[in-house]
Amino acid sequence: MHPLSRRDFLAGSVAALAAARIQPATASSKTIGYCIVGLGRVSIGYFLPGLKYAPSARPVAIVSRDPRIAAIIARRYGIAPRHIYGYADFDRIADNREIDAVYIALPNALHAEYTIRAARAGKHVLCEKPMSAQVEQAERMVAACRSAGRKLMIAYRCQYEPATLRARQLVRAGRLGRPLVITARFGFDISPSFRLMGETRPEWRLQRALAGGGPLMDVGIYCLNASRFITGQEPAGIQAESSSQPGDPRFRQVEENLAWSMRFPSGLAAACATSYGVSLGESFELSGSRNASLRMDPAYGYASHRLQVTGGGAPLDFQPDFSGHRQFGAEAEHFARCILENRTPRSPGEEGLRDMRLIARIYAAARRT
Ligand code: NAD
Repeated sequence: MHPLSRRDFLAGSVAALAAARIQPATASSKTIGYCIVGLGRVSIGYFLPGLKYAPSARPVAIVSRDPRIAAIIARRYGIAPRHIYGYADFDRIADNREIDAVYIALPNALHAEYTIRAARAGKHVLCEKPMSAQVEQAERMVAACRSAGRKLMIAYRCQYEPATLRARQLVRAGRLGRPLVITARFGFDISPSFRLMGETRPEWRLQRALAGGGPLMDVGIYCLNASRFITGQEPAGIQAESSSQPGDPRFRQVEENLAWSMRFPSGLAAACATSYGVSLGESFELSGSRNASLRMDPAYGYASHRLQVTGGGAPLDFQPDFSGHRQFGAEAEHFARCILENRTPRSPGEEGLRDMRLIARIYAAARRT
């Protein structure tokens, strides 16, 4: 099971119904109307219920290829049947003035097409990570949103989560001294198929054409983004090794395991690992020159994240009550406020593009060894 999919997101879930009841019933000039593109595990299980924590946002439309699921979700969130779209008539969202922004929760290789079409339809775009399946797609997404004058944000949920923000603030204030070593891991044992609202579907994460790559694209990206976000530093040198168990049909198209290292110009070194074959937990550790260390565990998933700091001052143990739905609510709210106040999001398209370029370098390094 995907580590980010453990919570119940099936039809009739009590939490989701409660969320739906709390949604404001009518449009307000102070709220941003989101159109949800792709009704799958993350949008049904997390983003939509998380909107109850986003006072400036509300769901107003959905795009789905499954009329049965679309009807259930529309009923649950009070979305009018005329605001349900398919992929073929997606461009009609241009005529719907209640839609200010789209939230794209499709397989990675489809992010670029729907981001570009949404921007051309005049809508702002909140796109799931990884930004795309290839660097060139990510570049086209940034260019399309820029030329349409629309905002693009990549849904790096952890950048809106309080323990991660506290870690970043402490590191940048010098609590650990000079950052010297990072170790980060995120991996799980992937299933070849998954259940969604009573149906069994093959896992697109194992298909290169839809995913663009393996666990690095999906969960390893959290280790990469946290390393950059918490330290504010960009890696220079990269080395990598990937491997797969021979004969495992899950890994015909994407890698099973990937370990990579990054050298930063300041002298900081990072060692990261990701896997679809085995649980690696979800941790981030950073040690600095004041003989002080910071550890986050859990660091990336839907459970409330925990930050512990030792050395360099009084010990800290910080675990705010901020699990999955709140994390999604916080990012949806941030983007809504950015639209309302005409600000650049904290994690704009350019941030996703930086990760995409680094991911391409990590894969290139793994191919060389
Ligand atoms: P999912 O398979 O559960 O949902 C994908 C949706 O896309 C489904 O509604 C499916 O019907 C639709 N779709 C449209 N065309 C499709 C096609 N050709 N093939 C397959 N599906 C198609 O996937 P998910 O787990 O919800 O992931 C969606 C995106 O969200 C991915 O980019 C993933 O990386 C990202 N994600 C982010 C988080 C997070 O915590 N930020 C968590 C999970 C997933």
